[in-house]
Amino acid sequence: MQKQRFFDLTLPELTQAVKALGKPGFRAQQLYRWIYSLQTQDFAQMTNLSKDFRSEMPTLFDFTLPEILKVHKSVDGTTKFLFNVGSNKSVEAVIIPSRDRLTLCISSEVGCNMACKFCYTGKQKLQRKLETWEIVGQFVQAARTLTPDQRLTNIVFMGMGEPLDNCEAVFKSIEILHSTWGYNVSRKRVTISTSGIVPMMPKITEAGVRMAVSLNGVNDQVRSEIMPINRKWPLAELLEACREHCRVSGDKVTFEYVLLKGVTDSLEDAKALYHLTKSVPCKINIIPFNEHPGSGFYRPAEETIVRFQNEMIRLGAHVLRRKTMGRDIYAACGQLTTAASSTQTQASL
Ligand code: SF4
Repeated sequence: MQKQRFFDLTLPELTQAVKALGKPGFRAQQLYRWIYSLQTQDFAQMTNLSKDFRSEMPTLFDFTLPEILKVHKSVDGTTKFLFNVGSNKSVEAVIIPSRDRLTLCISSEVGCNMACKFCYTGKQKLQRKLETWEIVGQFVQAARTLTPDQRLTNIVFMGMGEPLDNCEAVFKSIEILHSTWGYNVSRKRVTISTSGIVPMMPKITEAGVRMAVSLNGVNDQVRSEIMPINRKWPLAELLEACREHCRVSGDKVTFEYVLLKGVTDSLEDAKALYHLTKSVPCKINIIPFNEHPGSGFYRPAEETIVRFQNEMIRLGAHVLRRKTMGRDIYAACGQLTTAASSTQTQASL
């Protein structure tokens, strides 16, 4: 009999699997608690399970997790993990500390087909979509490196890949990480960032998680130039999907807006961005471009960045400048890549 992957299973699925083995269903809750909440895979410690069940466990389920190939710690506290996902491929996840939270930026695919021009990952076509256990596994492995007083509080799907291009595994992994018997990560502390696959956006609303949209262009001409997906789902459709999310969920959308020197950073762009987004309950993260080799784009001067932000504030927008973290280890947005030999990483914005 082929073993089921433990980290692929939601609690109802594990309950079903446990019952099929002739065990009471509540054993699934106990297992979830040991593995996720108490973070042990040492079956000897699981003393509320029968000895027989404990000894059978490795033969019943496959507990494989993605192997950590490298860990890089930044001087600003950011930690980047490089995971082996087989066939000489790797993905990355990044722990980003801030005052009151510990956020894990997670990958959903190896490579990405969206081909955003400013993005390091977008330079590589999609190689494959990650499976549920590989997404959950990034969280489990990262969580196990923390000290007992630390806890991952937030998840952002802003790592490698477009999460709405891999809906099944992404939403199932959220279900698993949300379980109250496991890590119990609140849905409101999970953010899915999309480049704008409009037909899939209602799934974010249905899942009860936060929506971020990588906007980056204030009109269809500029946006289509730097984000080819805009040719399929232009701004009017994208913004309508955002308004619908806000209407149904009562949440705000976060718009990510990357400042590219001479492309998206003028005062006219700031005004246009304000007028474009004012009909959507939102906040806007402006992200000065993190330069990477061969991108053909440049980071604006500091005074240009400040002027852009000040203009947005003057107009009344809720705008924040995203603090750039992990630049010394290439863990900042737009710097994640997939080559196993590389030390760089990319994030969808
Ligand atoms: S920014 Fe996100 S959606 Fe665009 S190519 Fe990069 S990973 Fe893909």
